[in-house]
Amino acid sequence: MKNGVVIVGAGHAGVQAAASLREEGYDGPVVLIGDETELPYHKPPLSKTFIKDAEAKPQPLRGEAFYSANAIDYRPGLRIDRIDIGARKLDVFGGGTIPFDRLVLATGSRPRLLKLDGVELAGVVSLRSLADARLIRELSAQSEDVVILGGGFIGLEIAATLRAAGRKVTVVEAVDRLLGRAVAPVIAAHVRQRLEAIGVRILTGTTVSRLEGEAGRVSAAITSNGERLPAQLVIIGIGVVPNVELAEAAGLATANGIRVDQHMQSSIPEILAIGDAASYRHWFTGADVRLESVQNATDQARLAARTILGHAEPFSAVPWFWSDIGDMKLQMVGLTQGGDSHVVLGEPAENKFSIYHYAGNRLLGIESVNRPADHMLGRKMLGAGFSPSPQTVAGGPDALKAALAAFQNMEPAKVGA
Ligand SMILES: Cc1cc2nc3c(=O)[nH]c(=O)nc-3n(C[C@H](O)[C@H](O)[C@H](O)COP(=O)(O)OP(=O)(O)OC[C@H]3O[C@@H](n4cnc5c(N)ncnc54)[C@H](O)[C@@H]3O)c2cc1C
Repeated sequence: MKNGVVIVGAGHAGVQAAASLREEGYDGPVVLIGDETELPYHKPPLSKTFIKDAEAKPQPLRGEAFYSANAIDYRPGLRIDRIDIGARKLDVFGGGTIPFDRLVLATGSRPRLLKLDGVELAGVVSLRSLADARLIRELSAQSEDVVILGGGFIGLEIAATLRAAGRKVTVVEAVDRLLGRAVAPVIAAHVRQRLEAIGVRILTGTTVSRLEGEAGRVSAAITSNGERLPAQLVIIGIGVVPNVELAEAAGLATANGIRVDQHMQSSIPEILAIGDAASYRHWFTGADVRLESVQNATDQARLAARTILGHAEPFSAVPWFWSDIGDMKLQMVGLTQGGDSHVVLGEPAENKFSIYHYAGNRLLGIESVNRPADHMLGRKMLGAGFSPSPQTVAGGPDALKAALAAFQNMEPAKVGA
């Protein structure tokens, strides 16, 4: 492969794909292209810590020396405009081409836009990149009142972070509960109650009908109930859309993401897609999904590298996710949609509990609040293909460890967690 592997997108997925190619022994050229100018960085801290701490530095995914030490040709600040499939080359915005033998699309996703009067005012932002986070940090330092549109993970993380930094924060969520359908209602209600306890105002079943400004800067959000919420900073966090335009224009199949098979190959097998941009039929539920998590991005990247090297294993990673909202570490493992019953371990009143979701007798997944050991054990159980009965779950962590050990013919102590 003379031109080697070219990776478009230098986020969590793209950087891991480059690293995994080398770890797996690939010795051809690896070109990693990103349109941001920074050294690739961790995104999760942006909403949790970075925006409230003027001194916080970005956390690089890999140190600067990693790229040269591994002969990864990292090219920051380049935007790919077009894939020329016939000629196997990429057109760079502003001129130039980059040839490839195999192409990995790791283009991620971008914040969903909102059509709203006043959305173009200064002080109306969303959070995806380090540049966005720097802007929010700067603007929030000058703002007393912050309005967040959207009660999903990122909106609520930002709400807790900015509240802890002393801002008056209001979250406006269109549906009648927080966190959409991402978590069980009991977790959503728990998160709401704890955020309200620290002074975050939460309006559910409410939308913002327009934004008002003074001298080009936002000054207030007007709700669907006609309430005027003062705001010097408005953050829109209503979800993301996958960056599929490059793939679509090149004729690759897309459906809520670039369609890939269980080896991360798109409808043109020399082109792979991974991370937030890729959609696929999930082995665990049989449903079509597009997951937005660091785990999904990195596990798919590892598999894409192995596919390129000729290994033909199907994707079988157990999905997991975390979110830190104030004093709550939320951790999810498995995919819980379609559950019909659940078992609770621990005490919501103590801010430490886990919910084990079942479809019939099959454990679909576990959602934990401040019970990291439950989460880790859950990853082991689902990874081993072990579905404990609801009765065993009700017996608590020791009963679960013993049952997993018996399933794996191991000593309970070796199960760990
Ligand atoms: C604020 C925030 C907090 C988060 N917190 C969590 C968390 O707690 N836990 C968790 O699991 N996940 C979290 N996530 C989600 C997680 O960061 C994403 O799922 C992950 O970044 C996906 O990786 P990716 O490589 O697919 O996309 P990205 O990391 O978005 O990287 C894609 C890169 O490709 C670039 N790109 C796109 N198109 C082009 C082009 N044409 N040419 C060149 N470059 C291009 C983009 O600019 C970007 O740099 C968070 C995300 C954000 C924004």
